[in-house]
Amino acid sequence: MGASSRMRGSTGEAANGSRPGLSWSGTVDYGPGPLHRPTSLDALRALVGRSDRTRALGTRHSFSQVAASDADLVTLEAMPGGIDIDTEHRTVRVGAGVRYGELVLALWEQGLALPSMGSLPHISVGGASATGTHGSGDRQRSLASSVRAIELVTADGDLVGFSREADAEVFDGMVLALGALGIVTRLELDLVPAFRMRQAVYLDLPPEQMSDEGLGAVLASAYSVSMFHHWDGTAAQVWVKQEADGTPDPMPDAWHGARRAPGPVHPAPDMPPTFCTDQSGEPGPAFEVLPHFRMEFTPSSGAEIQSEYFVPREHVGEAVAAVSETVERIRPLLIVSEIRSTAADGLWLSPAHGRASACIHFTWQSRPDEVRAVLPEVEAALAPFSPRPHWGKVFTLDADAVRAQYPRLADFQALRDRLDPRRVFRNEYVDGLLGA
Ligand SMILES: Cc1cc2nc3c(=O)[nH]c(=O)nc-3n(C[C@H](O)[C@H](O)[C@H](O)COP(=O)(O)OP(=O)(O)OC[C@H]3O[C@@H](n4cnc5c(N)ncnc54)[C@H](O)[C@@H]3O)c2cc1C
Repeated sequence: MGASSRMRGSTGEAANGSRPGLSWSGTVDYGPGPLHRPTSLDALRALVGRSDRTRALGTRHSFSQVAASDADLVTLEAMPGGIDIDTEHRTVRVGAGVRYGELVLALWEQGLALPSMGSLPHISVGGASATGTHGSGDRQRSLASSVRAIELVTADGDLVGFSREADAEVFDGMVLALGALGIVTRLELDLVPAFRMRQAVYLDLPPEQMSDEGLGAVLASAYSVSMFHHWDGTAAQVWVKQEADGTPDPMPDAWHGARRAPGPVHPAPDMPPTFCTDQSGEPGPAFEVLPHFRMEFTPSSGAEIQSEYFVPREHVGEAVAAVSETVERIRPLLIVSEIRSTAADGLWLSPAHGRASACIHFTWQSRPDEVRAVLPEVEAALAPFSPRPHWGKVFTLDADAVRAQYPRLADFQALRDRLDPRRVFRNEYVDGLLGA
């Protein structure tokens, strides 16, 4: 499929229970199925081997059609999971369908941790790695950057392994692969020693801090910083996550001109803070502080659409100012926006490939046609900053604009030709954006 300006996502108005390919919230439709639930590696290999076209599902939290298929869908949720920790080498081998929330708890018990997490722990390691899911922090890279080896079932049903060390020339194309190279069964991750963090939220970051310099300083001011705002020239909330060890002082009353929230808050208006991670400033295990949302709650009803664009970190204030020109169109559709940062990585399809990035995120109301209409204006405002959209969220940028942002795209397609010449793992989304 060639360039297209239609919305690269569906919010699936018809949340019909008979559709087996619905997202976690029932609001995105990945396809009619059939949906297969293999219970063993042999069953998965046999299934893939006899399929003309198949697609893996993770925990189904993507808003785009990245996971969609008009043929077979496969979930690994009935496969033996497995979390196999190597404390000596600080690595873990984990089933692709395992959720981060489950993984980090097992790691903590062994004195180990992941350096970064996304805003919610409910998502699978395989699915998050496949789309470049990220947390926030100038020194934190995408979650896929921690992957040091993978095993996947390729088009003929073979189980093959690749590692950063043994397959150095292609490994940066293997992990963040949008599900297009095969069905990943296990991943091996690098770990760090367990650590503690504390979190505090600050309100009403002053307008003068919304410049390149101001936002840059705020993003750099802690291990992980997220700013929630509504495009009114100020940041309503600044979530500050600090390493607790070695920082004896409690969180101060003010942060770059913002004032400490008197009590816990939720990023979205009218949502209960009980869903959110602790904001008291008291130290806790890092895995309980890095996400915004707690594993034991469903973070939202899912009646939302998300979009996110990565721009060069040093232009964050200019990019925010450019989008601000379209606020009259944005605000009626917006629930909340978030600004985060992420370190550069080398993964071929990573939105942070080769550049430290600021990530400008939108949580929209579930009004797909109106969101579809406003996104081109947002993208036009961001065009001078060479935006790269999050693969798992909704955007309307055309294929040429996306391809132009990925200098290793030809290498990825060569890898695809090698591993999946029959295009068993193709879907319209990947073919449309990257080429068939
Ligand atoms: C409330 C909410 C908050 C979010 N917060 C963040 C955030 O903080 N940061 C961020 O970057 N994103 C965020 N996202 C987006 C989300 O993290 C990504 O869309 C992520 O890919 C979802 O993982 P999943 O397990 O649900 O994968 P799915 O959505 O099920 O699948 C995503 C892709 O992975 C592929 N895939 C899944 N499993 C496998 C496998 N075993 N082998 C091969 N391919 C596979 C699928 O084919 C598909 O292409 C959020 C989403 C929601 C709903």
